[in-house]
Amino acid sequence: MSEASQFDVIVIGGGPAGATLAGLLAKRGRNVLVLERESFPRYHIGESMVTGMIPVMEELGLVDELEARFQRKTGINLVWGADPQPWRTDFSATGGLYDHSWHVKRDEFDQLLLDNARKLGATVLEQAHVSDVVQDEQGTVTGVVYKHEGMTHRASAAYTVDASGQNRTMTRKLTEVTFQEDLRNVAVWTYFQRFTPLEAPDDILVEAIEGGGWMWGIPLSETELSLGYVLPASQLADATAQGRSRTEVFLEGLAASRIAKTMVDPADAGEMRTARDWSHVSARFFGPGWVAVGDAACFIDPLFSSGVWLGTSGAWLAARALDAVLDDASLGEQALGRFNDVYQQLYRDILAYVRYFMDPTRLREEYMERAQAIGRTYIENSRVGFISLISGIKSLPELVSFDPMGMEGIQEVMQERAERVAAAKAAREAG
Ligand SMILES: Cc1cc2nc3c(=O)[nH]c(=O)nc-3n(C[C@H](O)[C@H](O)[C@H](O)COP(=O)(O)OP(=O)(O)OC[C@H]3O[C@@H](n4cnc5c(N)ncnc54)[C@H](O)[C@@H]3O)c2cc1C
Repeated sequence: MSEASQFDVIVIGGGPAGATLAGLLAKRGRNVLVLERESFPRYHIGESMVTGMIPVMEELGLVDELEARFQRKTGINLVWGADPQPWRTDFSATGGLYDHSWHVKRDEFDQLLLDNARKLGATVLEQAHVSDVVQDEQGTVTGVVYKHEGMTHRASAAYTVDASGQNRTMTRKLTEVTFQEDLRNVAVWTYFQRFTPLEAPDDILVEAIEGGGWMWGIPLSETELSLGYVLPASQLADATAQGRSRTEVFLEGLAASRIAKTMVDPADAGEMRTARDWSHVSARFFGPGWVAVGDAACFIDPLFSSGVWLGTSGAWLAARALDAVLDDASLGEQALGRFNDVYQQLYRDILAYVRYFMDPTRLREEYMERAQAIGRTYIENSRVGFISLISGIKSLPELVSFDPMGMEGIQEVMQERAERVAAAKAAREAG
């Protein structure tokens, strides 16, 4: 094994959560190592973005690039609830600043974020598989063991971040996890290379399917549609036990839809893909020497396309908390505790709403009112409360103004930083 190299922070996983965290910390001058087991670009599901993730993309300097490369997403087209009429809501209803996000090809999107982390100064190793977490006698995480180019290496850091997605490389070992039994779903999806767009062609389609589950329709370009069917895992297992293939189950779902089936010819369906889609949350998002962000921390059924927003928001919070802790280790519990509390609340709000919404028999007004209640938005127009919650915009104030230390802490650290900068400058001038 090679000798351990030392970093401020090691990030396991170079997906959107890991790359965001690494980029933000590197931008603040931190010495960051990202270990990603795949070679990018690599395929990933999770293609439709909400506007709540734009502010952190601005922080990373990526918005122009996203705008140039990806298909716009202006809103959501729903076939859902007791009222059979499809209905839509668009992002511009939240006030106009962020009136659209994007539908992305994740191989390209994830590579863009990871390359940006490199550009901002992070050391990124691909095909670097973390095989073990190193802890000292007190249980504090001090680094990792990873395999790269046929060799086993060790790296050490003040903090190690689990951003390894559903693999949960560290959280599966270091903390309890709760899987939400009522959201034990699976997804079956494919791509169509021609399709009939919706009336609002940039929208995502979200359609409840009679008999159980729901479908997404995501226009990745003018010619490519991602079409997926999310259903209870038990429903797919029953169908499989009866000898039906996942392609048949997908096509049955499509046939039972009202809008999705008007968009495609089933004969054009491409290769079928499947993934587990089981909402879960770790009991803690941090511990001695470690932090978790993205799916490694928590995951919610993609009904409202919340995954990348949730993961990059967690990374944004964690970057500020870690930056504070790296300056002053005694702030650990306080700063990371605040990160944990805000992030857990983001998760709980979306989870509560997805749970309520999963019942597709309610009245539209009921969905709207519940969104306002969960989002704690006190505005006349309940539709604004709805889109604010599901776009992540309602959480923007907490995210933007997140202060891991409290005002007193900030002043002390700013003072201390100013003194350090002045001392460094004086030392430079002296010699
Ligand atoms: C069916 C389905 C549909 C979805 N649709 C949407 C959607 O429309 N919009 C949306 O925002 N979200 C969606 N999501 C959720 C979204 O895909 C995830 O929330 C998002 O990818 C999480 O990002 P991440 O960085 O935490 O994890 P990932 O993107 O999974 O990245 C984790 C990385 O860690 C690496 N890794 C794992 N283990 C190790 C190891 N031991 N060593 C080194 N590297 C490792 C992996 O190779 C991977 O690159 C969907 C999810 C599912 C299942």
